[in-house]
Amino acid sequence: MSNLDLKPTPTVCGGRGDISAQPVHELLTGRVVPLGESTVVRRLLPNLGRRMVGAWCFVDHYGPDDIADQPGMQVAPHPHMGLQTVSWLHDGEVLHRDSLGSLQTVRPRELGLMTSGRAISHSEESPRPHARLLHGAQLWVALPDAHRHVAPAFEHHADLPVLNGGNGLRATVILGSLDGAASPGTAYTPLVGADLALAAGTDTRLPLDRDFEYAVLAMSGTTVVDGVPVEAGSMLYLGCGRTELPLRADVDSGLMLLGGEPFEERIVMWWNFVGRTNEDIAQAREAWMTGDRFGEVHGYDGPPIPAPELPPVPLKPRGRVR
Ligand code: MN
Repeated sequence: MSNLDLKPTPTVCGGRGDISAQPVHELLTGRVVPLGESTVVRRLLPNLGRRMVGAWCFVDHYGPDDIADQPGMQVAPHPHMGLQTVSWLHDGEVLHRDSLGSLQTVRPRELGLMTSGRAISHSEESPRPHARLLHGAQLWVALPDAHRHVAPAFEHHADLPVLNGGNGLRATVILGSLDGAASPGTAYTPLVGADLALAAGTDTRLPLDRDFEYAVLAMSGTTVVDGVPVEAGSMLYLGCGRTELPLRADVDSGLMLLGGEPFEERIVMWWNFVGRTNEDIAQAREAWMTGDRFGEVHGYDGPPIPAPELPPVPLKPRGRVR
């Protein structure tokens, strides 16, 4: 997924200032952003007043959309730096190509995990033919300074650990770990991404880590999360300091749980890049526009996406630093 804003605004994230040390309820709605010609996504992170949850720094939710007579997702080659992308589907499929030569179809409840490290480029498309429905989420994880220059990599994991407590809740661990179960995906900070499927009538509690901050993204149905009804397409930020999370659903419902140790480094996020300084971002933009550093994606039917203009004001990390 590419940030296709024509005028992306720089976002300064991370640091201790935004993090709620105590449990809170902060209901976030998505901003509708066009993705290509025929699809829109709802952007939950970064959001007004809430930029990160642990190392999770970008969350788009899309669908369910009927794409039977449409091209569906068509995101031409574009670069990434300083982050990992997580592709997670509930319906449909996405064909991933990247500058390492990866060619992989990602299907529902399979992890497509791309570590950009210092530089990678990729494209994402609905294959032809494709399923009628497309529904999923695209998420980014910021890499910590010690690992943000690692070699790029792509991982596909179709066999993820599932926690099935027999209480109506089925939790698939996408990245990081939850209640002792760890995803095979490579993670660089303590975090969790999990898919929570709740059968109608579920009323349970999910064990959490007191030191993590958390949010849930509602994918389908309505789940009552710690007393707050969260409808599909919205997100509830939960803060830190929780050892468990009460979950209740009257109808079959789906959530994504996102959490992690608060990300204390200040980062600068612009377009598809995460850096630390204005210069990092400007150099990455220049490298992409001159065909340097990010490699080439082969096989996508269309030209790469040009970088937008940088804003005239330098992007500087600001705010409280602990
Ligand atoms: Mn992308």
